[in-house]
Amino acid sequence: MTSYYPARAVVDLGAIRDNVGSLLRHASPSAGTGAQVLAVVKADGYGHGLVPAARAALAGGATWLGTAQLAEALALRAAGISSRILTWLYAPGAPLADLLRADVDVAVSASWALDAVLAAAQETGRTARIHLKVDTGLGRNGIMPEELDTVLASAVAAQSDGLVEVVGIWSHLALADDPAHPTVLAQAAVFDDAVRRAEQAGAHLEVRHLANSAATLTNPRLHYDLVRPGLAVYGLTPVPDLGSASDYGLVPAMTLEARLATVKEVPAGSGVSYGHQYTTTERTTLGVVPLGYGDGVPRHASGDLPRRPGGPVRVGSGASARTLAVAGRVCMDQVVVDLGPGATEQPGDTVVLFGPGTDGGPTAQDWADAAETISYEIVTRLGARVPREYV
Ligand code: PLP
Repeated sequence: MTSYYPARAVVDLGAIRDNVGSLLRHASPSAGTGAQVLAVVKADGYGHGLVPAARAALAGGATWLGTAQLAEALALRAAGISSRILTWLYAPGAPLADLLRADVDVAVSASWALDAVLAAAQETGRTARIHLKVDTGLGRNGIMPEELDTVLASAVAAQSDGLVEVVGIWSHLALADDPAHPTVLAQAAVFDDAVRRAEQAGAHLEVRHLANSAATLTNPRLHYDLVRPGLAVYGLTPVPDLGSASDYGLVPAMTLEARLATVKEVPAGSGVSYGHQYTTTERTTLGVVPLGYGDGVPRHASGDLPRRPGGPVRVGSGASARTLAVAGRVCMDQVVVDLGPGATEQPGDTVVLFGPGTDGGPTAQDWADAAETISYEIVTRLGARVPREYV
């Protein structure tokens, strides 16, 4: 470990690049005939690092990048990235003029947002490339279908004034991870109708896009011109009940590891960590791992044996490698692992909380299961203080 911090997240940029290659093969089964890939790099590249993740995704064949927050789109441009970028979540007062000057495509999810984009286009003298977001059934951001014609009429009028180009119609799915659910096709039907209405109104659409990772991997009918995977770019499966990452040709890019800060023997009957939720049943060896909820390790993955094991930790290497569970409560900066009687681990030895899982070690999905959450949350909540190292 190169920094003073006793833990690190090692990010395999080659895995991100290759995952995008796999996604492109899903989206475009015969070269050049299918959809382009917009790699979603919001939330600091799902915790992997905004700019390194973006560059790796572009190296893998992504032609677009997407962020929720405008600041992340501007940061990509400031880093010298010149690909198409779409950004989509903002409130009144957002610096839309800066985005137009930075040549970023902007989502319009409400009529006030169209007015704001038009004002920014007038201020900067630039034509805004906009993607109208339709709420086809997610019940979140987006123009309601019954309001679409009104927004379209204003947008198309502004198009003839050179203020905007309506380049995209897009939407987001509520149950993409349940591909057979009737809402998926119901949303697609509303989406198809929105596209038809936009084209009739005079929009020259460049991209229609609906699919997140789950729809990219499981539902070719929803690929349209552009797919918008996020989680799968980082090698994690959005549908763990349907297929593992490797089933979809994905490799988890992040390995979270730490060096044992303390190794000590304690007698049988010792309470471990706050609340003594875990008590040793025999004389044993405890290892202190210097990562806690202040680093994003979910407190909900505390161990409370025999009721419920904590999150998994891979200890040792080669023949002595074993996966143990966090013993007792996850603290702010540390967790404890019961290494077992006579353990030979030493302070400074490296343990792995999650990684690619190829050696049988734990994955971010295993931590998600232990914490009763989704792998998205495990990687995106990794604390800013944990150094990222890129390989
Ligand atoms: N598109 C939009 C609008 C999103 O908000 C997200 C993420 O939540 C994505 C695409 C990517 O989703 P996923 O990470 O499930 O692929």
